Amino acid sequence: MPQCAVCARDVSEDIDQPVGVTVAGSPELDPSRGTKRYWEGVWRYFCGLVCRSKFDSTPYEYMETAP
Ligand SMILES: [Zn+2]
Repeated sequence: MPQCAVCARDVSEDIDQPVGVTVAGSPELDPSRGTKRYWEGVWRYFCGLVCRSKFDSTPYEYMETAP
């Protein structure tokens, strides 16, 4: 199970699975379940948008927690 790159909390691996469909017909993801980003050759997982924002602003602070 991947861990949040910022706070090391476990992140579900099925975060890409849509939780529903928007009125426009596109798949709807729930970012509160976690999110991920491909960064420097590795997928970084985040437990939520707060941690992803922290990583976005200072990514090198969190490099040592990379898998
Ligand atoms: Zn986190």
